[in-house]
Amino acid sequence: MPVEHLTNGIHDTSTSLPPDFKAFKFIPKLIGDKNDSLNACLRMFEDLDIVEQFRPKNSTLRKFLQTVQKNYKQLPYHNWEHAFAVAHFCYLLLRTPKLKTQLNDLERLSLLVSSICHDLDHPGTSNSFQIQYKTPLADLYNNEGSILEKHHFAQTISILKSKECDIFEELSKEDFQHVMNILQDTIMATDIAVHFSSTMPRLKKTTEDKNGMERSFKQYMNGMTRT
Ligand SMILES: [Zn+2]
Repeated sequence: MPVEHLTNGIHDTSTSLPPDFKAFKFIPKLIGDKNDSLNACLRMFEDLDIVEQFRPKNSTLRKFLQTVQKNYKQLPYHNWEHAFAVAHFCYLLLRTPKLKTQLNDLERLSLLVSSICHDLDHPGTSNSFQIQYKTPLADLYNNEGSILEKHHFAQTISILKSKECDIFEELSKEDFQHVMNILQDTIMATDIAVHFSSTMPRLKKTTEDKNGMERSFKQYMNGMTRT
């Protein structure tokens, strides 16, 4: 499906999204080319409708997304199109009334950023492969644990450290740390091995506790939406 009218900026009201973009039945791979998907990403951030205090500058957000896009390799699966599809699903969840009340603006913004960054610079091989073949990436992370996920998070931070891509530059120190914690937790939770050995049992335990319900809902959201 060719997507027209998606070539303008985030605040250009003349831009339009493909039919059904805001519905779960929408198929992300039909979005069009990379420019279309980048513009659709900008619209997803805009649609979060977060308070001005946390809203990234349009030009910085665009540069950030362009850089993220460039840092996905051309792979059969863990590519930009996959990141876009996951971000789109996350966006649809974040629009639901339940999540709008369960999560605050900063958390919703963080989750969308996390979803788009969660497989950054994926090499196309698994954690087991890194360790078995003692790859440079495995060396970098001491040949253990969630090597790829550590790398995806490190890549995210590296992009955010660039002044022109720093979409969180206006945040207070406290809010910035909160965002970093969410990004780290959610990206690390995408290691499927950790998900089944740690996240799921913890989720089961916390759902038995009324006070833990809200927290478990967030954890569930974090782990299940990104692999
Ligand atoms: Zn993924």
